[in-house]
Amino acid sequence: MVSTSIPCLWITFFLHLCCYTNTGIAQNTKEVILLDSKAQQTELEWISSPPSGWEEISGLDENYTPIRTYQVCQVMEPNQNNWLRTNWIEKGDAQRIFVELKFTLRDCNSLPGVVGTCKETFNLYYQETESEVGRNIRESQYVKIDTIAADESFTQGDLGERKMKLNTEVRIIGPLSRRGFYLAFQDVGACIALVSVKVYYKKCWSIIENLATFPDTVTGSEFSSLVEVEGMCVSDAEEEAENSPKMHCSAEGEWLVPIGKCICKAGFHQKGDACEPCGRGFYKSSSQDLQCSRCPAHSYNDREGSWRCDCEDGYYRALSDPPSVACTRPPSAPQNLVYNINQTTVSLEWSPPADTGGRSDVTYRIMCRRCSWEPEECMPCGGNVGYLPQQSGLADTYVTILDLLAHANYTFEVEAVNGVSDLSRTQRLFAAVNIATGQAAPSQVSEVIKERVQQRSVQLSWQEPEQPNGVITEYEIKYYEKDQKDHIYSTVKSKSTSATVNNLKPSTAYVFQIRAFTAAGYGTYGPRLEVTTKEEATATIVSSEQNPVIIIAVVAVAGTIILVFMVFGFIIGRRHCGYSKADQEGDEELYFQFKFPGTKTYIDPETYEDPNRAVHQFAKELDASCIKIERVIGAGEFGEVCSGRLKLPGKRDVSVAIKTLKNGYTEKQRREFLCEASIMGQFDHPNVVHLEGVVTRGKPVMIVIEYMENGSLDAFLRKHDGQFTVIQLVGMLRGIAAGMRYLSDMGYVHRDLAARNILVNSNLVCKVSDFGLSRVIEDDPEAVYTTTGGKIPVRWTATEAIQYRKFTSSSDVWSYGIVMWEVMSYGERPYWDMSNQDVIKAIEEGYRLPAPMDCPPGLHQLMLDCWQKERADRPKFDQIVGILDKMIRNPNTLKTPVGTCTRPISPLLDQNTPDFTTFRSVGDWLEAIKMDRYKDNFTAAGYSSLESVARMTIEDVMSLGITLVGHQKKIMSSIQTMRAQMLHLHGTGVQV
Ligand code: AMP
Repeated sequence: MVSTSIPCLWITFFLHLCCYTNTGIAQNTKEVILLDSKAQQTELEWISSPPSGWEEISGLDENYTPIRTYQVCQVMEPNQNNWLRTNWIEKGDAQRIFVELKFTLRDCNSLPGVVGTCKETFNLYYQETESEVGRNIRESQYVKIDTIAADESFTQGDLGERKMKLNTEVRIIGPLSRRGFYLAFQDVGACIALVSVKVYYKKCWSIIENLATFPDTVTGSEFSSLVEVEGMCVSDAEEEAENSPKMHCSAEGEWLVPIGKCICKAGFHQKGDACEPCGRGFYKSSSQDLQCSRCPAHSYNDREGSWRCDCEDGYYRALSDPPSVACTRPPSAPQNLVYNINQTTVSLEWSPPADTGGRSDVTYRIMCRRCSWEPEECMPCGGNVGYLPQQSGLADTYVTILDLLAHANYTFEVEAVNGVSDLSRTQRLFAAVNIATGQAAPSQVSEVIKERVQQRSVQLSWQEPEQPNGVITEYEIKYYEKDQKDHIYSTVKSKSTSATVNNLKPSTAYVFQIRAFTAAGYGTYGPRLEVTTKEEATATIVSSEQNPVIIIAVVAVAGTIILVFMVFGFIIGRRHCGYSKADQEGDEELYFQFKFPGTKTYIDPETYEDPNRAVHQFAKELDASCIKIERVIGAGEFGEVCSGRLKLPGKRDVSVAIKTLKNGYTEKQRREFLCEASIMGQFDHPNVVHLEGVVTRGKPVMIVIEYMENGSLDAFLRKHDGQFTVIQLVGMLRGIAAGMRYLSDMGYVHRDLAARNILVNSNLVCKVSDFGLSRVIEDDPEAVYTTTGGKIPVRWTATEAIQYRKFTSSSDVWSYGIVMWEVMSYGERPYWDMSNQDVIKAIEEGYRLPAPMDCPPGLHQLMLDCWQKERADRPKFDQIVGILDKMIRNPNTLKTPVGTCTRPISPLLDQNTPDFTTFRSVGDWLEAIKMDRYKDNFTAAGYSSLESVARMTIEDVMSLGITLVGHQKKIMSSIQTMRAQMLHLHGTGVQV
């Protein structure tokens, strides 16, 4: 049988052949094999139909591994139709199946006698089924895949030369829709050896790409299809925002086109295809960061995988701080806090804190508390207080605090804050000042109601002003006829918040305005209220042509009736001249001034028969156990003056000065000593030293006074020569004037007003002190005996007081002018080293002290006014306060025009005091003014004559290298006097 003899040769060929084929069958990692005939070493047991057709034959492959093959070679007989069917192949996930056939095919030409029957191809079929079907092959149910022809067939001759090649053909089937399929090979008369059949599909195998895991993915059904696959982030990684990881599985089982990615979460960084935690001391705050970073300054962590580091104790991170910045801390307290008080306005200034806490967002906030005198009784200031520019979030190092209450104690704390201040639990650090506000006039009376309108009277009521700034002692109601041309007005006063204005004309329109009065003076008038009186029903008693004289008469009658009930009342009609009040309108005024019984008047303790009674009438007896004496601060005429503390039951302890009466005193001395307390005890004013009380029932006898930290004003100014602004100096003067206005209003004449008798507290508040009767002057070292008898501090005293002991508030005004000069010259001795006699003489001749260096002309003018010869021409303290207030309100008026104030307006000349022209040399002169240390400076600069010195300006003095402001002033002041003398003696001015 031909058909059987040929296959025998076949195997031999095949085995040889295997040695020459390349190993194209090695498994490709992208492939999933469903059938591999070579892999099966047992019989394949495929179905061959007819059974005489395809024949299963065993063989060995190139590795001598047994393999199973099928052969057919029915080339001699016509009409062959031999089918070979594989076992059922379950397709699994596959959609597109690859069929790889390896076979050899005999060249028909090499076979003799087969022409017409021999074929050189075979057909490949498949049949899809859900499961295995029977062993019968129903040809019609098979779908043809292809006719397979050999690329290489072989001949007899080839065999001899071993050139036979194995054919490999791959066909693809799909998409498949059933669970499995069969493959079938139809031989129609060829000589074929089917060496191997491999059925597989392709997969993209699981992969990690861009920190995302992509699962095993079967390729798509079409050759060109790409299967989109979503990746899953590896652990501790997350999808990049809006960029989820995707890849595409190609038909060839290759991953293509990666899109998006995963990134390591905060606290983790990438190492290979995984995310690893940041180590200790490192952090990664965001998935966006690539690397872990070392903890920033003042932070740490001791765990792995941190997204941030914790702050060290005392350090913080603001909410807005990124984890990458250092931890910071609250700033230290602001430095160099200084303040300035102007009545009820306080301005604070400070320097930035030494330590900003490591931040650049430092701002400042102000805490305001108002404290009573009671211990620990401080309350937040509340919303009525204004802050300029604002209370917190201050970028600059200053603030102005407005609308404070007058005469109130305030504590201001200035705190530097930064972004972490509110996180800190440590104690707040701030700079603080305690401030007592000055006095201020009451605010406006704004709401006035007409209660009753009659023909001749109008009854008004009103509300107390919003800010009384003190105790309102009375209200003034000003009114005038609306239609009267020059608005001559009248006033009435009321102690309550209502008043009836009488003696009006019927059917007449009147305008009313009200203002309040406190110790600080009058407030401004409130808005105008217009009221028309009722028509007159019956005949008028007083004609409508009433003239002011009649009004005065009527009011006088009414006033007289009132006076019956008033102890000190009186009516004055007067015309203003000189210093007219700024807020009074009209040239002429009809002025009714009542002194109410409630207004305190000074009572001379000498009028008491029993001086002890006087003391206890005006001074509180203190228990000596409440007083703690700490140290001696001065010597008084009766004994030591000490500082110490006073702790009254239920009250906060306060610093006090304690004047003691030394042992062995006489009764007269005791009386005189306590006399000061009897006087001081009657006063209650912020610019008058306050008496706390006396100890008379024990030893030593003591007078306890509020403590004035900076001591007496003259020494204080000398110590701080040139250190204050003009406004500060004027502020001090204003305080002294206010204290004096109060004393003069009470009817008290001081007699010894001088800078040495003014005390200064820690807030630069000046208070009038040293009260007594004649004895005060007696023990004043400045006081000298005059021809009129008694001792008098000549340089401070008005001429009439020196000449005939006429001491009045007007002579106090003279002394006040000298105090002004002392203040503006920083404690210079008035009239320098002129003798008292020369001073008296010079004053008599009309000479007055020149303006001190840098003194605003307005202030010197005020001094000169205080030194008017006629005491009636001198301003009253009330007017002085007003003028100073105006200056403070308009600081421009306090500017010193360069070169103007240096020339005295009314130059002082004393021919008997050292005449500057009598000095032989510049050296003599410098010695006389105790500035001889600068001799060389003058010589070196070529100032050899006094004439050349007299022409010097402040710039010239400074150019000599004299840097101390006090010395510059002293020299300039002396030069001015020198110039004045030269002018007087030679009648020629010195050109400056
Ligand atoms: P006197 O006897 O009042 O002249 O006081 C003598 C000295 O004691 C004064 O020059 C002050 O230096 C000092 N002194 C007097 N009263 C006070 C006070 N209330 N506060 C502080 N120091 C005072």
